[in-house]
Amino acid sequence: MTFPVIGVVGGGQLARMMAPAAVALGFELHVLAEGPDVCAVAAVAHAPIGDYGDLDVLRRFAADVDVLTFDHEHVPSGHLRTLIAEGVNVQPRPEALIHAQDKLVMRAAIERLGLPNPRWSAVASVPDVVAFGDLHGWPVVLKMPRGGYDGKGVKVLDDAGAAATAADWFTAMSPLLVEAKVDFSRELAALVARTPDGEARAWPVVQSVQVDGVCDEVIAPAPDLPPVVEGAAEEAALRIATELGVTGVMAVELFETPGQGQGFLINELAMRPHNSGHWTMDGSVTSQFEQHLRAVLNLPLGATGILGDVVVMKNFLGGANTDLFGAYPAALAAGPAVKVHSYGKSVRPGRKLGHVNVVSRPGESVAAVRAQAATVATIIRDGAASGPTQTSESTQTSDSTQKGLR
Ligand code: ADP
Repeated sequence: MTFPVIGVVGGGQLARMMAPAAVALGFELHVLAEGPDVCAVAAVAHAPIGDYGDLDVLRRFAADVDVLTFDHEHVPSGHLRTLIAEGVNVQPRPEALIHAQDKLVMRAAIERLGLPNPRWSAVASVPDVVAFGDLHGWPVVLKMPRGGYDGKGVKVLDDAGAAATAADWFTAMSPLLVEAKVDFSRELAALVARTPDGEARAWPVVQSVQVDGVCDEVIAPAPDLPPVVEGAAEEAALRIATELGVTGVMAVELFETPGQGQGFLINELAMRPHNSGHWTMDGSVTSQFEQHLRAVLNLPLGATGILGDVVVMKNFLGGANTDLFGAYPAALAAGPAVKVHSYGKSVRPGRKLGHVNVVSRPGESVAAVRAQAATVATIIRDGAASGPTQTSESTQTSDSTQKGLR
């Protein structure tokens, strides 16, 4: 057997979605799972359960893999350095990964590279926050540099009085990161992949729509993005990947700021496949999951072209419906061109349970594609009885759909 074994630390949906890509290429995927019922376990043959914070657990898991990579960014750097010293091939390396683990380290690196940051500072107390707000203007955004996700660990403070309410955050962690609250027109993401030898490729820059701090929808490419901004954002992401020595997939989350500076500011980095890249599973020549595996194995990267004029991804979170499969007949009938990706998780309110992707047909409008995605995701989330929310465009059946050509 000469095909490689890839070990993924963490058994969430990102590890799960690497499985079909591994199968297609003949790779063996091992997952270090947090528990027996995390969602990647059902997708791979080898999923030992263990605590990724325990060096011995990591050591045993890494013993029979060719490369160790991640579903999340929480593995302590010290453990990774030890594993590397012991000969484990860890991708991305901890020196790169730290920029996705610690937002203060990330802000300093972006500044060093001369790329566009919001105004920011490390702060150790409420008076520090007040001084920053008084200097740069209110409101400000206070962030836990480590451990935050989906908007947890992010607090908008309107004035000095509000800042006082954040005192307990400093007992949990210090220093914290404070940033100017950016007046952005929308959020964008630039997704790239890079190999240890330095080959790098970028997908088109996308628009991501966040609801309550959670990614809700992604439109690829970002509609009406000025080419100069798209080019600069892509170049910034590739430069970050190269200069920080990133390997595998990296997402750079951006705020669009029309008419100011380069037209965007960098929000944060993720060094793994990312929600803003789920559209690539059906909408690009190479999905981000396949690309991540190729990249960490130092194989040539796949083409990143888009397969339609527009591709829309819509997440479904836990909602009223607890029987997702019960909604499938109605959901699938409502959107024959919609691809459903369900993560095999039990339903809890607000939990990311899956997403759908739609690739446009020639001439189809962005609105029509978004409507198809929303219709299917909503039926799955709320149940068949919720009734379709289609627009007239999304319910039209063309000749090609009737013939099943799509
Ligand atoms: P997380 O790590 O939890 O995803 P982010 O730093 O991405 O946290 O922040 C979550 C959301 O909060 C962002 O998607 C954005 O909508 C908002 N946000 C974060 N930083 C700023 C900022 N400086 N100005 C305005 N909004 C912000």
